Amino acid sequence: MKNKPFNTPIKVAALLPLLTLAACADLGIKSSSSDNSENLLMQQQPMEAEQAAFINGQWLSVHPDGNMLLTAADGQQQTLDISAEYISERNVDGQPLFISVDASANRLVSYSVRDGKISDIHYGQPLPYPMEGICLYQPSASELNLFVMDENQMAHQLLLSMSGNTLKHSEIRQFPLPPQSEYCVVDDETDQLFVSEENIGVWAYNARAESEVSRKPVDLVQPWGQLQDNAGPLAIANGQLLIGELGSNLLHSYRIESSKYSATFSWQLPQNIAIDSLTASMDGSHIALLDDNSSALYSAQLQLPERAATAQRIAQLSPSAETTPVASAGDAADDPAIWVNKKIPADSLVLGTDKQHGLYVYDLHGNQVQELNAGRVNNVDVRQGFTFKGKTMDIAAASQRDRNSIALFAINPASGLLTAAGEVATDLSDIYGMCMYKNPHGEFFVFVNDKDGRFEQWQLLDAASGWSGKKVREFAVATQPEGCAADDAEQRLFIGEEDVAVWTLAADADASAEMTMVSPVSEILVDDIEGMDVYRKGDKAYLIVSSQGNDSYVVYQAEAPYTYIGRFRIGINAEKSIDGASETDGLTVSSADLGDEYPHGMLVVQDGRNMLPDDAQNFKYVDWDDIRQLFNL
Ligand code: CA
Ligand code: CA
Ligand code: CA
Ligand code: CA
Ligand code: CA
Repeated sequence: MKNKPFNTPIKVAALLPLLTLAACADLGIKSSSSDNSENLLMQQQPMEAEQAAFINGQWLSVHPDGNMLLTAADGQQQTLDISAEYISERNVDGQPLFISVDASANRLVSYSVRDGKISDIHYGQPLPYPMEGICLYQPSASELNLFVMDENQMAHQLLLSMSGNTLKHSEIRQFPLPPQSEYCVVDDETDQLFVSEENIGVWAYNARAESEVSRKPVDLVQPWGQLQDNAGPLAIANGQLLIGELGSNLLHSYRIESSKYSATFSWQLPQNIAIDSLTASMDGSHIALLDDNSSALYSAQLQLPERAATAQRIAQLSPSAETTPVASAGDAADDPAIWVNKKIPADSLVLGTDKQHGLYVYDLHGNQVQELNAGRVNNVDVRQGFTFKGKTMDIAAASQRDRNSIALFAINPASGLLTAAGEVATDLSDIYGMCMYKNPHGEFFVFVNDKDGRFEQWQLLDAASGWSGKKVREFAVATQPEGCAADDAEQRLFIGEEDVAVWTLAADADASAEMTMVSPVSEILVDDIEGMDVYRKGDKAYLIVSSQGNDSYVVYQAEAPYTYIGRFRIGINAEKSIDGASETDGLTVSSADLGDEYPHGMLVVQDGRNMLPDDAQNFKYVDWDDIRQLFNL
């Protein structure tokens, strides 16, 4: 310990106005109001440190010679003998959990602090890249991620889990960061990763593993933004992003919203302080910063306002299984359908299109059991209890984009085996989405749509020569449709106009085609509106829609007035190493008892980004029971 005054408070007046209005417009930053001149009471702590975290009166710190130290309020110290670098913290199951880097072995180490002791130590396997920075991210209560920045400016997003004495990590995705990226921090509430690019500014990335990689600036260095000199260490406290300027005495805070950042405070610390690291306690009450000049650790108690009420985080469910990837690379998997095995429910099947290639059939574990080279089939649907050449047969139909036709498949009602059974030519010129409808008289119909907005309703007829189609109705929406679904019991059709709304109309050919809006595109239903289906059990029925623009699924009552029930995302199943689902095109549900694993039925969604590991697209299965419990259905 160096000979320094102990806990010497230094009052620092917030420096105002540090911010200029000139560059605000570009960044969506509002200038701080004039009454933000608070004092920041800096206290020098009795330890040398490279980085530190404050936990209930104790300090966890990285000593300059590399040990991790836990210092109690009475000065008692405990050492974790690793060559430590970095501290990142989250609360997991009510306990603080820390991740640091054990630099000598280039591995991660996790630990907790309980009863004044460092405990629950788990080590990871060495990583194949040198680590330049880490930051924890908690996408949901049951999932823990770590962003690791390597020296080649790649961000590695790792899924963490503990098993025995081991910290297990599997890479979910990696993406490039700007040059000179040194510091990162994640705001869990808004799922944003913040990264400092030292001479440019601070960037925000979507932290969700299933999101597209893109960044937006939080603030930039003058003259493009309001940072005086550079962008350095980062911390989050009370929904505020703290940015320290490296090697200087300037500290700034910004209110975080999902895509807006408003400068709130700027502080000028004493001249002798050169900021080198920064952390905030989990409760946002304390910050710790390291002075590069003296290696002294300073702390301050923050008086930041409570975080503004943010929109509730979207609930996250986990897939219980995923299918074999489709054959085609790129955007290929599109739309599923479920065939129910009435005798052996657990042997029910999932059909899925590869819109560049054909139709696949999967079992309820996701294994591929059949492949049909059916060409560019876009959407597929199933109805059961039809006849083919007079014999009982189930049927699948698909919109076929090579020939603007409806491709038909006979499904053996006992085995589930599919056989191509002809096509019905349509009058459409750019066929796109489709869905099936079976009316109360046991008549079978297909709705197909064109990208130009036209819909055609075809009745399917059986004869000794096989299946044929008869056009029975036409109607249209103004712009591009795709997804649709019929509620057979209520003789009702739901259709999606991708950028506009979900509509409903009577499904019967002789009924009016007058449409009622179920929901317009909104902050909840984010375009494109993609796949949809109806879950009906008795007199309860729900419409579930893919809100592709924000990777979520929206649930409505399937009966007027089509009340909004809720929404969810599909995140990682850490236990089974199945990635979540995003950018979903088609989806389907069944309310049938599908055996022990899906007694209340299931949801199947197309996944636009198949990860863990990266592979061609596929479909994810979700137990309906999880949806039922989430919304108390
Ligand atoms: Ca797609
Ligand atoms: Ca479908
Ligand atoms: Ca579409
Ligand atoms: Ca995925
Ligand atoms: Ca996967």
